[in-house]
Amino acid sequence: MKMKNFIPVRKRLFVGLLGISVLAAGLLLAGIWYLAVNPSRTVFDQMLLLLLAGLLVGGMVVAAFGIGGIVLTILYAKDITALHGPMRVAVNIFFPIALAIGGMIHIDKDKIKSSFIEVNNDLVKSKALKLIPSQLLLLAPHCLQKSDCPHKITVNINNCRRCGACPVSELLDLRDAYGIKVGIATGGTLARKFVQEYHPRAIVAIACERDLTSGIQDSNPIPVLGVTNDRPFGPCFNTQIKIPKVEEAIRFFVEEKYIPGMVSADGGIAPKELKDAGSGIKSRRRETDLPVGVRNG
Ligand code: SF4
Repeated sequence: MKMKNFIPVRKRLFVGLLGISVLAAGLLLAGIWYLAVNPSRTVFDQMLLLLLAGLLVGGMVVAAFGIGGIVLTILYAKDITALHGPMRVAVNIFFPIALAIGGMIHIDKDKIKSSFIEVNNDLVKSKALKLIPSQLLLLAPHCLQKSDCPHKITVNINNCRRCGACPVSELLDLRDAYGIKVGIATGGTLARKFVQEYHPRAIVAIACERDLTSGIQDSNPIPVLGVTNDRPFGPCFNTQIKIPKVEEAIRFFVEEKYIPGMVSADGGIAPKELKDAGSGIKSRRRETDLPVGVRNG
């Protein structure tokens, strides 16, 4: 088993804050213990406090194993099945505390969430799950659609005319090339509806840090590879996505025999030689079609 030299800085932030959260829980435990052993308490109060302390100790021990599991998984890039439960506890219970602690020391919430998404992606990739394409769902946010496009793609993505003015046409190119399911969601409710409808075994999700973080947690135990979108015009408006990153995530999940040639290239525009090489895919988004400010990457 080969070990990476270090945990990259962006992932260290999330893991470090999780560790600090467990230490904070330790301080809380010391406080509860101090109150419990105070002779002025009634026996009933002492029992309640000791029960609380016991629960806290249990949570801390499990979370400590979970954090250890996360670190080992990142370092060795191998799934540690025995630690799935503790890792889930560490993330679900201690992540909100980590966010609160990060806020107290003025760390940008999006940075912490972005670090969480990277750690999550590493944990998902350690499982080496291989699927037939129809078991994979690509979920994308409605804000990728050009704001003045009149076609209702959330009702039916095939309403997109593939004019190439926004990334939706390229997502459809990916869908057609790989045979996966695609849903364009206006929010969490519609995203959940797609998950219920398609019963995916894995999800590639495109969203901002906030929606990806909640989506990854909501979808548990379905593995989600998250790809954050770019917001050159601010949040939720004509957002952009690096199509090669999306394709890379799709290729991770799809069984090799179903993988066609690369559809995308840097910048999300399929190069002519690949288009001609038989993928059957033609990206219609030309550089001049891209909004000012996002041309040339
Ligand atoms: S590619 Fe064109 S038709 Fe399709 S959603 Fe975007 S703007 Fe509308």
